[in-house]
Amino acid sequence: MTDDKCIFCRIVRGDLPATIVHDDVGTMAFMDAMPQSNGHVLVIPKRHAETIFDVGADEAAQLIRLSHRVAHAIRASLQPDGLMLAQFNGRAAGQTVGHLHFHLIPRAFGSELKFHATAPAKAEDLAHTRDRIKAAFTA
Ligand code: 5GP
Ligand code: ZN
Repeated sequence: MTDDKCIFCRIVRGDLPATIVHDDVGTMAFMDAMPQSNGHVLVIPKRHAETIFDVGADEAAQLIRLSHRVAHAIRASLQPDGLMLAQFNGRAAGQTVGHLHFHLIPRAFGSELKFHATAPAKAEDLAHTRDRIKAAFTA
C-alpha cells in the first residue's frame, strides 16, 4: 500500500511532517514544501501509485474531484489571476517524486514562477496559506 522509501507515502503515514489541506479515505492534499508560488498545493492518492498509468479511471477521477475542490478553495481564498494545474509522468516529463501528484499553482500577472523544487518555504508561511485555503474549502 505504501512504500518505505517514498516521501509522499511517508507523509501519508504521518512519518514526515506536511502542511495538510485535506485528508480523506483515498486522497490527500498538502502544501508543496518548495512552492513555485504562494498557495502551491499537491493532490495525491494515499496508496502508492507512481504515475497516471498506475491508477484506474475511478481513482484518477477521485484525484480530479479533489483537485477541483482545492482549485475552488484556492481561488476563493487567495484570488490569484489564474491557476495552473500540472501533472508529470516519468523523469523525462519532469517528475522528481515517484508518487503520482497533481500540482495546483496559483499564478499572478507579472510574476514569474519560482524554479521547480528549489527553495523551501517557511513552515509558518505554509501554515498560514494552508489555513486560508482550508477556510474556503467546501464539501
Ligand atoms: P514533481 O517534480 O515530481 O512533479 O514534483 C514534486 C514536488 O514535490 C515538487 O514541487 C517539490 O517541491 C515537492 N516536494 C518535494 N519534497 C517534498 C516534501 O518533503 N514535502 C512536500 N510537501 N513537498 C515536497
Ligand atoms: Zn508513495
